[in-house]
Amino acid sequence: MPEKKGLWQTEYINTDYGQTYRLKRKIVSEKSPYQKIELVETFEFGKMLLLDGAVQTSEKDEFIYHEMLVHPALLTHPKPNRVLIIGGGDGGALRRVLEHPVEEAILVEMDQKVVELSKVYLSSISNYAFDNKRATIIIDDGFSFLKREKKKFDLIIVDSTDPVGKATVLFSKDFYQLAFSSLNEEGMIVTQSGSVFYQLDEVRQTFFNLKKIFPYAYVYLASVPTYPGSLWSFTLGSKLHLPPLIPLSVKKERMIKRKIKTRYYNLEVDLAAFALPTFLKEALGETNSS
Ligand code: SAM
Repeated sequence: MPEKKGLWQTEYINTDYGQTYRLKRKIVSEKSPYQKIELVETFEFGKMLLLDGAVQTSEKDEFIYHEMLVHPALLTHPKPNRVLIIGGGDGGALRRVLEHPVEEAILVEMDQKVVELSKVYLSSISNYAFDNKRATIIIDDGFSFLKREKKKFDLIIVDSTDPVGKATVLFSKDFYQLAFSSLNEEGMIVTQSGSVFYQLDEVRQTFFNLKKIFPYAYVYLASVPTYPGSLWSFTLGSKLHLPPLIPLSVKKERMIKRKIKTRYYNLEVDLAAFALPTFLKEALGETNSS
C-alpha cells in the first residue's frame, strides 16, 4: 500500500465518500464572484481544475469526457454550422466542437476567471481553441444569453457544473423549452447529467425534463476516472435525428470527411454508450429513446 505522505487533495462526494489525489503542487486557489477556483498539479492525473472543491477536468482523462460530450451529437447532425456551448470554461469541449467544420462555435461561460486561468494553465486541454477565429467567447449566464439570442443553433452543449447555484437553471424544463425554440429543425441539445452512481436523481430529472420538451431523449454513458463513481452520464434531446439509429457507416464517413481524430470515442463506443445497465433503465422507466 503506497505511503500516504505528502500533500493530498480530497474531493468529498458525500458525507461518506471522497476521492483523493496526491499533489505535486497547488498552483492557484482563489474566489471568483461565483465560486472557489483551484488549479492543482497531481502525480496521477496531471493538472486539475476544481470548482468549489469538485473536480471539473484533468489533463490525463479530459479527452474521455470532452470527446463523449461532443462527438455523438456532432456526428449525428449532417451539417452542424452553429454550435452553442454553455459553461465549458476550460476549453475542452470547444476544442472538440471546432474539429467539426462548424462555421461558428459560441462559448458562454459565466466566470471570466475560469477562462483566464484555463488559458494560462490548461492549454493542453483547450489546445488554444479560445483563439480559433470560428470561436466566440462570451462571459454571461447561459440562460440569459439564450433568452436574448435571436439566431438559432444546430447544437446546444451544456458543459456546466452540477445543478447547484447558477447551474441549476440549466437543468430546468424552462431552459429546455428555451433551448428547443433556439434550435433549428434538426437541432439537438446534449448536457452532462452527472454520476449514475451518486447522482441518479439528477440523471432521472434531466432525462424526464428533456423528454417533456423534445420528441426524442437519450441517456448515454462514459467512464471518466476522475468523476465520482467514474460512470458518467450525458443526456441528449433531439428534434429529428436518433443518434443510436444513424448507420455506423454514415458516422464513419462523417468522421473521415471531417478528419475527426479521437483517443476514446469510436463508432463501437458510440453505439455501446447508449446501452444502459438495468438499474439505470429501470430508473428511466425503460424508455431510453423516444
Ligand atoms: N466538465 C465539467 C463537469 O462535467 O462538471 C464542467 C466543466 S466547466 C469548467 C463548468 C463551467 O460551467 C464552470 O466554469 C461554471 O462557471 C460554468 N457555469 C455554471 N453555471 C453556468 C451558467 N448558468 N451559465 C454559464 N456558465 C455556467
